[in-house]
Amino acid sequence: MADRDGNRKELLEQLTMPGNTRCADCGAPDPDWASYKLGIFVCLHCSGIHRNLPEISKIKSIRLDFWDDDLVKYMRTHGNLSAKAKYEAVVPPYYYRPQATDCLVLKEQWIRAKYERQEFTADQTGKSRESAGNKEGFLWKRGKDKAQFLLRRFVLSEREGVLKYFTKEEIKGAKATMSLKDLNAMFQPEKIGNPNGLQITYVKGIQTRNVFVYHESRKEIVDWFNAIRAARLRYLKTEFPTTAESEIIPRITRNYLKEGYMEKTGPKQREAFRKRWFTLDLQERKLLYYKDPMDPYEQGAVFIGSRDHGYQVKEGLPKGIKGKKWKAGVTIVTPGRQFLFTCENEKDQRAWMEALNEVISRPMTPQDYAAEANFRRQS
Ligand SMILES: [Zn+2]
Repeated sequence: MADRDGNRKELLEQLTMPGNTRCADCGAPDPDWASYKLGIFVCLHCSGIHRNLPEISKIKSIRLDFWDDDLVKYMRTHGNLSAKAKYEAVVPPYYYRPQATDCLVLKEQWIRAKYERQEFTADQTGKSRESAGNKEGFLWKRGKDKAQFLLRRFVLSEREGVLKYFTKEEIKGAKATMSLKDLNAMFQPEKIGNPNGLQITYVKGIQTRNVFVYHESRKEIVDWFNAIRAARLRYLKTEFPTTAESEIIPRITRNYLKEGYMEKTGPKQREAFRKRWFTLDLQERKLLYYKDPMDPYEQGAVFIGSRDHGYQVKEGLPKGIKGKKWKAGVTIVTPGRQFLFTCENEKDQRAWMEALNEVISRPMTPQDYAAEANFRRQS
């Protein structure tokens, strides 16, 4: 007969072993679920994804479920490090490995790619990734002026260094040609209102252009995301041949450091405070604002330099100035002027200040100086 308490104790011990202290799939700390078919320890969230794949995975709670001796022994001889060696033997450098904070579609497709399709096992070593940065197909794209989504053909070409899309009158040429140089992509299920919603951004003139797309197939939208990443990696490696790949990889695509509503006033600081949607981009050091979260172009931008270059974020508003509806003020001091904002509550105010301080604490690179000078000329 299985020693119930002994087995639970043994499993809890296994959880302290290298590799098992974090979820095998998203890296969340202290997993307390396990797939006893794959021999891995996972977090509650990833366990839910495994539960939907009964062909490849079977889930038990470490603390709540009954474990017999054989399964406990199986877990001991396998575990997260051994699974990683097998199922993540040859993950291409551009392939996005989801983290605990990432959305469901990214985690689900990572889990399916690893264990169901076994895309990264050692026998895939010789598989050509040559065409990884090329892709063609249809995506639902949000119309520029109206809120509906229209089916559009997209073409990603690594060789041309662009992502293009076409309207029905393809003969007229691409509706937009986005250079890989400034291309970014991030999953935005909540903002787009679709679990497979992807926001693509590129620079057009001096503005950031947003393109919102989705595909009904979870695999297809994640394939698009990784194809864009493959093309971007190739571009960055060509552009910065002496930079280490480990330094380039975090720059392939990026999420915003923070986004959400604040109220802002104008340059005279006497204008009425208006509610706007803000996005903070750490890499570009830019706080952009929009009337609507899904606007194609920003209404304005604030360059956020570093502390030793006269940038500062302060709690509250200057004396005598009050927000409209919201009271929790944030003041951004730049060498040129002050920018005044109010947040819905103190919790959000703290979160914005923390995010802005993260940008301000980061030293400026030569590219940042150029961007700052460019920014001053334009504003
Ligand atoms: Zn997880």
